Amino acid sequence: MNAKWLLTILIFAGLVLGIIAGQLLYDPGFSPGGVHAHAAALALFDFIGFTVFMGLLKMLIIPLIATSVIAGVTSVGDFSKLGALGARTLVYYFATMFMAVVLGLVLVTTFRPGDPMAAQAAQVDNSGAATSNDADAANAPSSAPVPVDERAQGGLIGILKNLVSQMIPENVVAAAAAGQPLGIICFSIFFGVVATLVGAPAEPVVHFMNSAFEVLMRMVHVVMWIAPLGVFALLAKTIAVIGLQVFSEAIGRYMFVVLGGLAIHGLIVIPLVLWYFGKCNPFRFLHQMRQAMMTALATDSSSATLPVTIECATEQGGVNKRSAGFVLPLGSTINMDGTALYEAVAVVFIAQAFHIDLSFTELIIVAVTATLAAMGAAGIPSAGLVTMIIVIKAVNGSLTGHGAPEIPEAGIALIIGVDRLLDMFRTAVNVWGDAAGAKIIDRYDAK
Ligand code: ASP
Repeated sequence: MNAKWLLTILIFAGLVLGIIAGQLLYDPGFSPGGVHAHAAALALFDFIGFTVFMGLLKMLIIPLIATSVIAGVTSVGDFSKLGALGARTLVYYFATMFMAVVLGLVLVTTFRPGDPMAAQAAQVDNSGAATSNDADAANAPSSAPVPVDERAQGGLIGILKNLVSQMIPENVVAAAAAGQPLGIICFSIFFGVVATLVGAPAEPVVHFMNSAFEVLMRMVHVVMWIAPLGVFALLAKTIAVIGLQVFSEAIGRYMFVVLGGLAIHGLIVIPLVLWYFGKCNPFRFLHQMRQAMMTALATDSSSATLPVTIECATEQGGVNKRSAGFVLPLGSTINMDGTALYEAVAVVFIAQAFHIDLSFTELIIVAVTATLAAMGAAGIPSAGLVTMIIVIKAVNGSLTGHGAPEIPEAGIALIIGVDRLLDMFRTAVNVWGDAAGAKIIDRYDAK
């Protein structure tokens, strides 16, 4: 058996065993070593999963983005080609996110998962906490305050301003130190374009970036040998907090709608787009991206998965360094099909739970704002939950315009407890959408 296969099998085993271990730990009747052993196991999973595995991946992100974007841009050479590459990439991002949102809206308005949640909605107080005394709800992080950060402030204009200010950081080193990828991506594109213009004198720095990129990819290989343990620990921790029984509760219907939408988008829509525009076998490519998919499932973070996405796409999926270097880093922060679908479903679900009827115009507002809010969400865990406030605010603007009651922002408390589980799958779809985009752009780039 070759090393790649062994690693894939080990990561998959980590995934399955993590789910089993998490569910056992969730069960209050299963506590072989008492509460202290239970808490120690969770602390250990946290340490292995977040501190070590995600820490190692995150450590590689910024240098990998800088080198891969610069190596990618400088290898294009011709500026008309670069412009075409950029334009195609943006069209692909917008089009697929919009398709995901429309699919989510069709499903949520057809299956109406919010209707059975009216009782829980009535218990949500204005502070954003669900006042249920249900033991499971207490175990889930549903009573945590709804996280609202500056990304969600100021509505749509706010999100655009925020995006632009991240794209043009005052201090690129500070942006790198703060782990903000957008600024580094823009700086690197700019640097790569000018390095190409400068020509011969810039060759040493271009060589340096290319060789640093190769070294970083090798570092990703090494880190991936920790992935089986990391994936196990991350999943065990998630399931131990939420438990799989949530699927049989009233909220389960909402979860099935989100997961069904993600499955249709990930397994039908993206493969069709990839097959038609990328002229390749989409399931073979999905198979080549399998390690990235499993890492996305476990980490809940497109950014943390980026090193693995680049590795799988270039070394197994046959994507040119040029397309991968440009499309994947940018995609990991702004192309989020899964998040866009999820935000649209979640907002309409909350409205249904509060018996608020949304007109066709309001559904269009949801479609447009969910696409933009997903673009504004960072590739980190639960970012979509935060930027969803923007969608709620935009819809409320229209609802109050015709005297209808507003969707309470505190309604997010209804879904916050199961967010981590859904985040796993929407992150996997986000990463899959990025990879498929790189493969498609690669085909056009090669023409
Ligand atoms: N966790 C997602 C990602 O990193 C973003 C989200 O919360 O939807 O892609």
